[in-house]
Amino acid sequence: MPKQNKPMNKKSNAYHKPTQHTAKKAKPSGPQILTYKDGMNVSDVAKAMDVSSAVIIKKLMLMGMMTSVNQIIDRDTVELVAIEEGFEVVDEVITDVTRFDEMDIEDDPKDLVKRPPIVTIMGHVDHGKTTLLDTIRKSRVAQSEAGGITQHIGAYQVDYKGEKVTFIDTPGHAAFTEMRARGAKVTDIVIIVVAADDGVMPQTIEAIDHAKAAKVPIIVAVNKMDRPQANPEKVMTALSEKGLTPEEWGGQIPFVKISALKGEGIDQLLELIILVSEVEELKANPKRFAQGTVIEARLDKGRGSVATLIVESGTLRVGDYLACGNTYGKVRTMEDDLKKRYKEALPAMPIEITGLNEVPKAGDIFKAFDDEKMTRQIAEERQSREREKELKKRSKTSLESLMGDMESSEKELNLIIKGDVNGSIEALKGLLEKIDIEGFHVNVIRGEVGAISESDVTLANATQSILIGFNVRPTASVKALADTQGVEIRLYSIIYRVQEDIEAALKGMLAPKFEEIVIGQAEVRETFKVSKIGTIAGCIVTDGSIIREALVRVLRNGIVVYEGKLASLKRFKDDAKEVRQGFECGLSIENFNDIKVGDIIEASKMKEMEIV
Ligand code: GDP
Repeated sequence: MPKQNKPMNKKSNAYHKPTQHTAKKAKPSGPQILTYKDGMNVSDVAKAMDVSSAVIIKKLMLMGMMTSVNQIIDRDTVELVAIEEGFEVVDEVITDVTRFDEMDIEDDPKDLVKRPPIVTIMGHVDHGKTTLLDTIRKSRVAQSEAGGITQHIGAYQVDYKGEKVTFIDTPGHAAFTEMRARGAKVTDIVIIVVAADDGVMPQTIEAIDHAKAAKVPIIVAVNKMDRPQANPEKVMTALSEKGLTPEEWGGQIPFVKISALKGEGIDQLLELIILVSEVEELKANPKRFAQGTVIEARLDKGRGSVATLIVESGTLRVGDYLACGNTYGKVRTMEDDLKKRYKEALPAMPIEITGLNEVPKAGDIFKAFDDEKMTRQIAEERQSREREKELKKRSKTSLESLMGDMESSEKELNLIIKGDVNGSIEALKGLLEKIDIEGFHVNVIRGEVGAISESDVTLANATQSILIGFNVRPTASVKALADTQGVEIRLYSIIYRVQEDIEAALKGMLAPKFEEIVIGQAEVRETFKVSKIGTIAGCIVTDGSIIREALVRVLRNGIVVYEGKLASLKRFKDDAKEVRQGFECGLSIENFNDIKVGDIIEASKMKEMEIV
């Protein structure tokens, strides 16, 4: 085995510890500088200005903002506070040493060797994608020594006449494009399956668009040729009209007629794939630390975080340290879909690994290193940046929300969902985000596979979210953290229960509705003008009672002449809270002095209505 090269960086300092972005204190002479960092909370700002959090909280209160120590404040607000204290705010300059693309090394052309093609099968529903993938897989299981025990890991490799081909279990067209958008290079060739008895359908066109956008060669497999209604010419004509002219008609696109069900034409298809990949001259450098893409990931009850990776270049080995998405770990085991164990995985090889601390996302890029500390540091830096992004998106205590958006932000219930498999998280998200109770709705801030972590609790605290664990639980230390921060964690294993509870929670959030209840009436017997105060009415309470906080209506000959609040209520010379029927009182009305003898003062109060 060739010796591994240590990855080198284009930038010489690329693996140095990232600079700490703490706010710098100014030299005593010059202006004081506060380095603004995304997601700063009250305590961060206080520390940056070397004052106590209470000072900042007080300043914000004077500006009309009620905050707590952990509350995130937006840049404008930080600037307002800072300027008052004589600080100048400058934005943090992020020296992004943790971006994987910047760590890329250029391969020496002499290290590049041929690698297998990675193939994705696309096409309209029911045209035979799954059957084709199964048939190809079975043809290989039959040859293997593993005795046919297979597991779904999201991708597999077959050996055809000494050449390897990697197939990705179709992730769906949109997922394919999303992965590509995130920089994943996991397809060299797209096979478009079209049923000969059904022809070109909407998703066939969609598949063509996705494949064209990915700029990868296309092979058309005209399937279900065993069917009596099969009409391959019709398919060929329709595809020619879409710009995919078959080679046999003088075009560029190889077509192969198959029956996925009967296993006919499969050899020809594999031969075509190898031919096309030879034209593409697919190469990779195995003599470096591996990098590649996550195809699938889940939380396994026994094994923890399990991820299927496709090595793009380099060689992945058991024992390598991996920075993967926002997580990291040490490769503990490597297995293929036949449960065969490997010690190393070469380029284009799909492999299921265990050993990551958390569950990455499909489409995440991974990189292997030989230094645990550096790997952890890279993952932590990436994670904290991701968190800042989330916080920034969702930060509620901003000037903006204070000025105008208060209503809409108050009408949201923030949730963080953690679950064991992506499927249930997606299902939950879909279900919960649809809930709308009188304009109140759910906002899923984070929905991820994995156990409930400290980072989830911190995010929940900062965004005032409820944490939902679906088939996952927090550890005792995470639970303790949630308790101290007052973060609510709810655990579920049935989807509709979550829905029920969230609906109930939203109902509880509804602003209470009030109804007006008349509590009493008083008749004006005399009026006095008092300078500074205005008109005081001497009354007798004729019905019920008049209370100091009452809302009042002034009725004259049965007509409402004024509606407002009481300004004062007195029994003799003393302020009174309540004056009951049959007693005399003196009262004045806010902003209304035109009270006349004979007027009726009707008092009422607002009562909260029951919500059904
Ligand atoms: P997908 O939705 O594209 O994954 O399609 P499936 O692989 O699930 O196939 C849909 C249906 O078509 C199934 O009932 C298959 O048995 C059937 N089918 C797939 N390939 C063939 C074929 O080559 N011939 C015939 N007759 N049926 C097929």
